[in-house]
Amino acid sequence: MTHSPLRLRLDGDALVANWQLLRDLSNGAACGAAVKADGYGLGAREVVRRLAAAGCRDFFVAVWSEARALADLGVSISVLHGVRDADLADRPPDARPVLNTIEQVRRWRAAGGGLCDVMVDTGMNRLGIAPEDIAAGLLDGLEIETLMSHLACADEDVPLNEQQRTAFAVLRGRTAARRMSLANSAGIALGADYAFDLTRPGIALYGGRQRAGHTGIRQVASPEAQILQRRRVRAGEIVGYNATFVASRDTEIAVLNLGYADGYLRCFSGKGRARAGDTMLPVIGRISMDLTAVAVDAAPALAEGDWLTLDYALPETAALSGLSQYELLTGLGDRFDRMWG
Ligand SMILES: *Cc1c(COP(=O)(O)O)cnc(C)c1O
Repeated sequence: MTHSPLRLRLDGDALVANWQLLRDLSNGAACGAAVKADGYGLGAREVVRRLAAAGCRDFFVAVWSEARALADLGVSISVLHGVRDADLADRPPDARPVLNTIEQVRRWRAAGGGLCDVMVDTGMNRLGIAPEDIAAGLLDGLEIETLMSHLACADEDVPLNEQQRTAFAVLRGRTAARRMSLANSAGIALGADYAFDLTRPGIALYGGRQRAGHTGIRQVASPEAQILQRRRVRAGEIVGYNATFVASRDTEIAVLNLGYADGYLRCFSGKGRARAGDTMLPVIGRISMDLTAVAVDAAPALAEGDWLTLDYALPETAALSGLSQYELLTGLGDRFDRMWG
């Protein structure tokens, strides 16, 4: 048990309920979980433990070091960035690559092959092999668990979604893949046709809401910061770097152990909000590297050592800050004690 002046409260029941909701939206398909970037900043090991206990069987990370950090948990892990020569030597037994390029396919075959996944590009032009290369026999003889593709604009209503779905659907039966997988969190909410055999939610597991289908998704992560000092600022005085806040009247402020080095970025300057119970406390002035000031006139009893909760509902906080829901979570630093309840 450490005692940082910063803690990230994590709601394990909400995480599991979110996964169950996404599974139920997946039209009978299996529902996996993207846990790359340390479970979107929440802590991949704790996320995997909880979701595996709830019945989740397919986990996705970006790179092999992430798979190694989960190796002892005994779950099936797909490594989305595939395999480099440098990755071949140290591979946990339950992890397999998602092959993205002709070169990766060649490398995997040369290394002896074995079970793998394959990413096919259906229009995003990020990762994946071309459907024409599949038609030309590139994957013949490969032992493929899941053929997958990725949607570029699943959180928008654009024709590209249906174009990608159709381009993917025609590949059914064209490879030896046992399963097909297309949908991320937003893709699951596009409708039953997008689920195929396996879905791959990430952000919605962690409280992200992007489409109407995500209405029942619950917030999982709530940052809390301790008050380092309470002080009175006289009318006409300033608070913080570059004096962006000038007190128009005598103002009570609390200075929190939280700053941009913790992922509470400067876009929250003069905009963010903390809470003490139901009392809203506005962030004032610039966010510093390790410190943030809030006005606490509305909370006379708050004192040094008390804890405040930052407003961090993902869609609303993304709209307020200009950051994406993903950045809000993955930016949270390791000075937070991650406390699951
Ligand atoms: C990150 C990722 C996901 C999960 O996406 P969300 O938008 O977080 O649901 C699914 N598939 C792939 C290939 C990814 O890289």
